[in-house]
Order: sequence, then structure tokens, then C-alpha cells
Amino acid sequence: GRQQRLALVVAQAKKEWETIFDSFSNPIFVSDREGRIIRCNHAVADRLNTRYDNILGKPLSEALTFDPQLDVDQLRGREFPWLGRLYEISTFFLPEEGGGTRDLIMLHDITERKQAEIETKRQKQYFESLVQNSPVAIVVLDNDEKIVSSNPAFEHLYGYVSADIIGADLDALITNEETRAEAVRYTQEVMQQAVHAIGKRKRKDGSLVDVEILGVPVIVDGEKLGAFAMYHDISEIVRARHEAEDANRAKSEFLANMSHEIRTPMNGVIGMLDLALDTQLTKEQRDYLQTSLHSAESLLTLLNDILDFSKIEAGRLELESVNFNLRTAVEDVASMLAGRAQGKGLEMICLVHPDISSDLRGDPGRLRQVLVNLVGNAVKFTHQGEIVIRAEPLEETDDRVKVRFSVQDTGIGIPRERQAAIFERFTQVDGSTTRQYGGTGLGLTISLQLIEMMGGRIGLESKPGVGSTFWFAVQFEKQPRRAKRETGPLTPGPFNLTQTRILVVDDNQTNRLVLEKSVQALGSRVDTVESGAKAIAVLRHAHRTGDPYHVLLLDMQMPLMDGEQTARAIKSDPALKEIKIIVLTSMGQRGDANRLERLGVSGYLLKPIKQQMLFDAVVAVLNQKEEQSIGIITRHVLKEKRKVGQRILLAEDNPINQKLAVILLQKAGFSVDAVETGAQALEKSGDPSYSAVLMDVQMPDMDGLDATRLIRERELQTGYHIPIIAMTAHAMQGDRERCLDAGMDDYVAKPLEPKVLFSALDRWIVPQKSLAKAPPDDLPQDDHLSDFFQAGDESGLFGESTPPASSLTEEPAPVARADSPADSLPANFELALPRFSGDREFMKQMFLEFMEGLPQRQREIHAALDENDPNRLGRLAHNLKGVTLNFNAGPLAAAALSIEQLAAREDLTNARALVDRLDAEAARLADFWSAEGF
Ligand code: ADP
Repeated sequence: GRQQRLALVVAQAKKEWETIFDSFSNPIFVSDREGRIIRCNHAVADRLNTRYDNILGKPLSEALTFDPQLDVDQLRGREFPWLGRLYEISTFFLPEEGGGTRDLIMLHDITERKQAEIETKRQKQYFESLVQNSPVAIVVLDNDEKIVSSNPAFEHLYGYVSADIIGADLDALITNEETRAEAVRYTQEVMQQAVHAIGKRKRKDGSLVDVEILGVPVIVDGEKLGAFAMYHDISEIVRARHEAEDANRAKSEFLANMSHEIRTPMNGVIGMLDLALDTQLTKEQRDYLQTSLHSAESLLTLLNDILDFSKIEAGRLELESVNFNLRTAVEDVASMLAGRAQGKGLEMICLVHPDISSDLRGDPGRLRQVLVNLVGNAVKFTHQGEIVIRAEPLEETDDRVKVRFSVQDTGIGIPRERQAAIFERFTQVDGSTTRQYGGTGLGLTISLQLIEMMGGRIGLESKPGVGSTFWFAVQFEKQPRRAKRETGPLTPGPFNLTQTRILVVDDNQTNRLVLEKSVQALGSRVDTVESGAKAIAVLRHAHRTGDPYHVLLLDMQMPLMDGEQTARAIKSDPALKEIKIIVLTSMGQRGDANRLERLGVSGYLLKPIKQQMLFDAVVAVLNQKEEQSIGIITRHVLKEKRKVGQRILLAEDNPINQKLAVILLQKAGFSVDAVETGAQALEKSGDPSYSAVLMDVQMPDMDGLDATRLIRERELQTGYHIPIIAMTAHAMQGDRERCLDAGMDDYVAKPLEPKVLFSALDRWIVPQKSLAKAPPDDLPQDDHLSDFFQAGDESGLFGESTPPASSLTEEPAPVARADSPADSLPANFELALPRFSGDREFMKQMFLEFMEGLPQRQREIHAALDENDPNRLGRLAHNLKGVTLNFNAGPLAAAALSIEQLAAREDLTNARALVDRLDAEAARLADFWSAEGF
């Protein structure tokens, strides 16, 4: 009963226990006191791959292969290798009924765990050695931005030991005041995202080091643990870069200096070639020198490019900010390069927007340079068609205007893939281009840099075979209002063209538009037609209706009926021939001007026509008087005429000398007011609009010296100094001092030599003259006035050690010349011709006038002699001598001089004989003139 039931329960429990015991995958042993195995689970049999009977009863040390000396207890907690795997052993005492003990030994297989641990450890060591040996300084921050660990490179870079480092605030440790804020910002940032920067950090000793900084947040399983910060020492790299930059700058600086050194003698070469070309030369010599000049000029252009480029590279180029006129600047470039364009048969059109504000501030020289580069390239790379230069306003405020400039050509164009590269230095579109076209490849680089320095932008649009448009946009300051007058575009003057009616004839529509706008800007009434035939019809109609045109602007190159044919037709029509014709040509041909002049054409201008030039030309042709034939108006005449606005006060009592001087000055473009006495000169010279006074020394009433003294006295009050240039036929010792003492500035000898006169005026009116003249291709040689009034460079300044021959000399040169033997020719007109600027007709007129007045002068001299008045006689003879010398009429002048000298001694005893000689020479001169003419 009960016993049985108990046995059943026990059996049941044993079975359950055995099942559990066997189901453990870890081996379990039970051993007795002697260490023999009395039980084990299925896992053991399984591992040992044997039956229970082979295990039970065996010593545990044998089954588990451990030292039998060891007690089971000593195994507890050990890692224990068995049958190729690793176990940890747990032992438990099992108390026995009756006081004995047994041991329960459980083996936990830790092979996998152990392997993972080893792997982790290996990896850890691996990364640790990476960090430890890294040349990059590394610190690890916790979430409080405190340093958790650092590597030796960090200690080495910043000079700290790890005790200084661990637990420290990173930013406090390695920044100074300057970099603190930046570092703090990075540290905050790095807690969220990676940071990469370059900066300077502080070492323990306070010195700074250039570092590349890299920071990354440390996030594990979505948990933020802190951050890494890494510092790479780049001081070497930075130093190397500085050194390279310094070396480059030094190189550029050297280049800048060198090119300057080379440029100076180059200017000398060009200047001397220029001077040499002004001398008497054979055709061959002229050709050689001309070629040298061209070569020297191209070389100089090249040098200038290199100079600019290295200046920009060396950071030594500075921009100016001065008042300038935009329209003039652009038009100047166009006209400078017009010759080259015309030489290639290209049409050049310059469109400065009529509404643009022209009075600006900026660097006109650099602006011109960029334009010259772009226009020069356009000409170089275009073989047919046209070049259009534009300037138009983009945005305008009260004090600024942004201008877009463009240069459009119909040239070879630039492939798209090369467009970006051409702004790089030394780059040309390709190798073969280099050979075909030459050039340095610097022009556009310089242009780009200049425009960028001006705060502008530059770019291009181009299609190969169609053409290119280079453009740039720059903002300029406007001139303050009051400054406007200085650079006003048009000469303020007595000219008002609002009543002038002008007809434009041109077959090209763009040109018609340009001319129409330009004429409108003059304030004149304008109409345009597209052919010569139309023009004639329109002119006839205007004549019939009683509102005739005054000026015709006539294009030379037109189909069917060209400009010359049109001009001929108009000039042979009695109803139309009064109109002033200005022929405009894009291709100046040798001889054109002369031929057109004979046709009755008044002006001949090379396109593109500048606004200012158009104005001057219209004024000049309208002022042209038939009897005062100045000849055809060309751009060179106009260039000289730009002296308009410069008024000269001429004090000269002798009417012929006065007229001669007035005409010479007017032809040179000065406006002149003439007075006859010193008193009048004194009165008028108070007017500040005069640029200079030309003062005859000997005048009735008050002589030039007294007048000058009084003028200078008056100027003590005004603080103003008007240049006074003496003109005198006295060329005696001491004259120079007397003139200087009286307060005169300079001196020219009579008879006036135009070259000397203008160079003296140039000296005193325009303070500086540059050595280099305009390039020769700017001056077509076909025009007979091109050498008109080219002021020489003779220096006639007082106080110079070598006074020029025709200015004041210690020896009385003109008098000596007048003392020629009586049997010499009565006059040498050829020698006198230069005095009339080579204008024979002009000389003839003046001579006729002189001869007409001569008998009256002789009568006056006789009268003075009869009245025994040596003063008057002396003055009359002096005057006659002066006028006579203009024509190189030596013998007559010599006769007059002897009377003058006699009168000076106030001894008229022998005067009669001298006066007779004077009469005889006068007669001889008249005979000579009628026999020889000019
Ligand atoms: P350079 O003219 O001295 O070679 P640039 O810097 O002025 O140097 O020009 C660089 C290159 O760009 C030229 O050589 C030429 O190949 C190209 N280029 C410039 N302007 C034009 C243009 N208007 N038409 C075609 N090609 C041009």
C-alpha cells in the first residue's frame, strides 16, 4: 500500500530527474568522495562518444583529463579545455544521507563566447594601435565635451602629458583668445555632425600650429557617446605654400621691374625714331626707319602686356579714379584702331548710346586698354564684314551708372569648348592659331583681371565661322554735378548748330542711324537718304521750297553712284553747289583728299566719326570762307583745331604782321583777339578766358615791356599768371634779360616761324608733352595738311643753356641775315614758304597785301626824314624791316635796318642816301615779283 505508492513516486521523480539531467546540453558529472564518476548525463556520453558503463566508476580526472592531484573544488570557476572546446566549471556539493558528500560538476561550454571575446579584444588592440601610432593627433570626448582619451600624437603635437589631458576641456586646452570662439562652435557642431576645417591651435608653450581639423560624433546603436577630434599638423604644407607664393610674387615683381627697365629705353628708341622720321630722308631711309618704328611699337605693346600682367600678379596694379568722358574714351579707341580695320577692308561702327551719362569717374586708361584689347582682337580675327563697338547703360541711379560695353565681330569665332579657356593666361584657341595670328595670349587675361578689379564682369558669345561678341559690364561713379564743365563733351562756344540743316547719305542702315543720332546730338535738323541719286532729289526739293540744307554728310563707298560722283553732280548744279560737303570714308586712299578738294568738297573724314569730330567738322566747314582757303577739312586739321576754346591775345601794331599771326593762329585752331597797343593789351589781358598773350615788344603808346610790367603788377592782386610770350625783331644782346625782367615768360623772334611759335604756345598752354606721338598708321599720309603746324620740339625756354636758333639768340641772327649783300636776290620765297606753313597761296596773298601797302610806307619814311624826326623814322624803318623779313626779302630788310640803326644814333646826316637805297630795293623787289611770281 503506502510503501508501494511511495516507491512509485520516487521512481517517477527519479525518471523525471534523469530526463532533465540528460536533456542538459552541458556535460554534468556526479562524483564520489574518491573522485570517481558515479553518474553523468547524456551530454557526457555523447562528447566522449561511448557508453555509460565505460564512464561510470572512472576517476573524474581521467575522463576530464586533468591532473589527478587537483581537487575538484580547485577547478571551480576555471576555464577548462576539454576535447577541443573550452569550458567553465561549476561544482556543487551534494550532501549524502549519512554525512558523506558527493560533487556535482557542471561544464559550461564557453568556446563561442571566448572566441568572440578574443576577437573583440584583438580588434580593440588593432584599433588602439592604430590610434596610438597614428601621426594624427586624436582625442575622444564624452558628451560633456571633456577629454576621455588621447593618443601620443596629440600629446606630441600640443606638448601635453596625458595627465594634463584626460578630463580636460578640449577647447580650453588648445585654443587662444582668437580661436576660442571658432573652436567652441566646432565642438558644439561635432556633437551633431562631422566637422572639417583648417585652423590654428595653441600648444602648451603658447605657440600656434596650423592644423587640419576633423571631428565626428561617436554614435553607437543610436546612442551618442561623445566625439572624436583629430588634428593633422599642416604647418609644413602651409609654409611650403607661403614660400611658393612668395617666390611667385618675387618672380612677378622681378618681371614688373624688368619690363619697366626695358620699357624706358624702348620709349627712347621710339622717340628717337620719331624724331629721325621728321628729318630730311631718302625714301629708302624713310622705309627702314618706318619699319623699325613699327617693330619697336609692337615690341613695346608686348612689353606693356607683360608689365601689366606681372603687375597684376604681384598685386601691384592700382586703379585710378579720375573724371573722364565715356564717349570720348570709347570713340578714341574706335578711331585709334579704325586705320587697322580699314586696312583690312572692315567696316567699323561705334555706337555710344545717346542717353548714356558720359561724365564719369573711374580709370579711363584701363578701360581703354580693355577696349583696345577686344577691338584689336576683333580686327585681328576678322577677315571680312564689320566690327561694332557699343556702350549702353544697364542701370542708372543718381550717382552711378552701370555700362555694358560690347565688341561684336564677324570673324572666325571661337569653339564653345575653348571659350572658357581663352581668359586663362598664355592661352590661345589652338597651336595653329598661334602661328597664324601671333600674340601672347595675355590680352584677355589682363582684360579679365582689370574688369574684375573694377568690380565688373566679362564674357563672350561666339560661333565659329559667324563671329564673336565680347562684352563686359562695369559700374562707374558719375561726376558730381559741379565738376561737369571740365570734361563737357562739346566745346562751349559761339557755335549754335540748331538752325543748321544736314542731310546724311549712306547706303548702310546702321551707319545712317549712327549719323542721324550724332547729328541730332549737335542739335541740328537732320534727314537721311540711302543713295546719291536720292540725295540730289532731296537737295533740289529743299532748294525749291526755300529751306536748303547747309551740310551734306556723304558716304564715299556706295553702290551705283559713289560719293565722289554724287559730289561732282552736286557741285556742278548751280542751285546746289553752295552746300558744304563732308565726305565720310571707311577706306582712306592716297590722293582722295586732294581730288575731292578740287571737286569743291569741304571736308574729308575717316570713319568711325566721333561726335566731337563731327561737331568740329561741321563748325569748320560752315566757317570756311572762300577767300581764306584753308583747304579741305580733315581729321588732322580738326585735331589741331581742337585748340578751339584756347584764346590768344595778340598785341601787334603792324597790320601785316598782325594779320599773318592771326591767320597762323587761327589755322592752328586758336581763337585770337588782336590789339595794336600795349595799353589795349593791358586792358584786355584782364579777361581770364585768354590762355596766353603774344606781345610785340615795340608798340606805340605803351610798349610790350611796360604793358607786361603793369599786367604782372595787377596780377599780384589776382594771384593769376597769364603766360606772356614776347615777339620781337630786336635780337640784340640784353633783350632776353629785358623781357625776363619785365615779367615775360618766353620769347619768339620775328619773323614768326610757325613751328617755333606753336612750340612756345604748347609749352605755356599745355604744360606737358609726352614723347610718344600717335602711331603713324593713325595718320593717313594722303592729306596735304597732315604735316600742318606740327610743332617742333625745339625748346626755347628762357634759361636753357642752348637756345634754339630761331628763338632768342645772343647773336642777332635775323639782323645778320638781313645784312646780305645788295646784289643778292631781292627775295627768297622758297625759304619764306615754311613761315606760311607751306601754303603758297596764303603767302601770295600776304605778299600782295604787303606790296600794296609798301608805297605808303615809303611815303611815311620820306615824311619822317623831311621832318627830321629820328624817332618816327626809326620806328617806321623797324616796322618795315620786320614785315619784310617775313618774305625773306633780305636787301630791302637790310636797307630798313640801316635806317633804323642810323635813327637810333639820332644822326640823320646820311639818312637820305639810305632812304634812296630803300626805295631802290623796294623797286627791285616789285620787279622781281612781277618777273618771277611765285
Ligand atoms: P592674343 O590675342 O595675344 O593671342 P588674347 O588673350 O587677347 O591673346 O586672346 C586669346 C585667344 O583668344 C586668341 O589667341 C584667339 O585664339 C582667341 N580670340 C580672342 N578674341 C577673338 C576674336 N574676336 N575672335 C576669335 N578668336 C578670338
